[in-house]
Amino acid sequence: MTISENIKSVGDDIAAYCVTCNRMPQSVLLLAVSKTKPAADISAAYQAGLRHFGENYCQEALLKQQQLSAFDITWHFIGPIQSNKTKLIARHFNWVHSVDSLRIAKRLSEQRPNDLPPLNICLQVNVSQEASKSGVSLVELPALTSEIYLLPRLKLRGVMAIPAPQQEYELQRLPYKTLVKAVNDLNQPALDTFSFGMTDDLKAAIVEGSTIVRVGTALFGKRS
Ligand SMILES: *Cc1c(COP(=O)(O)O)cnc(C)c1O
Repeated sequence: MTISENIKSVGDDIAAYCVTCNRMPQSVLLLAVSKTKPAADISAAYQAGLRHFGENYCQEALLKQQQLSAFDITWHFIGPIQSNKTKLIARHFNWVHSVDSLRIAKRLSEQRPNDLPPLNICLQVNVSQEASKSGVSLVELPALTSEIYLLPRLKLRGVMAIPAPQQEYELQRLPYKTLVKAVNDLNQPALDTFSFGMTDDLKAAIVEGSTIVRVGTALFGKRS
């Protein structure tokens, strides 16, 4: 299958899952995760209509951004953030999904150039309570969101999650349900973004309210 056929197929899946839960297909943004894939693949996906691309590694992303500078792409950073990379991330991305501490949020706010609009961010939440996974706990969420609202160069949009992989549909839904409830309990209308769902749990994510699905493998094939 070509990238363009994959996009059609994933788009059809998203639309079908939306029908099962009475959602509008336009309420789910397909973020194409292009990490490890060449600029030519991004170009093919762009020609097929995609405009939002997600990258995990700063250097790799910057290289592709240079190669694709003629394209009108919205770039999302979705990988782990090292503090020595915040300056580049703050300058070269439109969104950052993987903010997981106040320290990193403050650096991004301080380093976001003034000639650019505030940086859209999501807080990465550790929904599987695994010590090894990055992300803030649900308990920390209320205090952290209040602190981040005070940072002038950031626009806090919502939350991002990468749960531990589960095969079963019902098990895939659980962490998302918990996360959505925790965010709704915050009662913050500005939080309009739920970044969750990948190739293997798209349906569970959409049924639980995802507004951005981050899909790599189903669009670009397996990563080596
Ligand atoms: C790689 C990656 C994805 C895409 O995963 P697939 O299973 O290939 O769809 C989504 N989100 C993050 C944070 C990733 O690192």
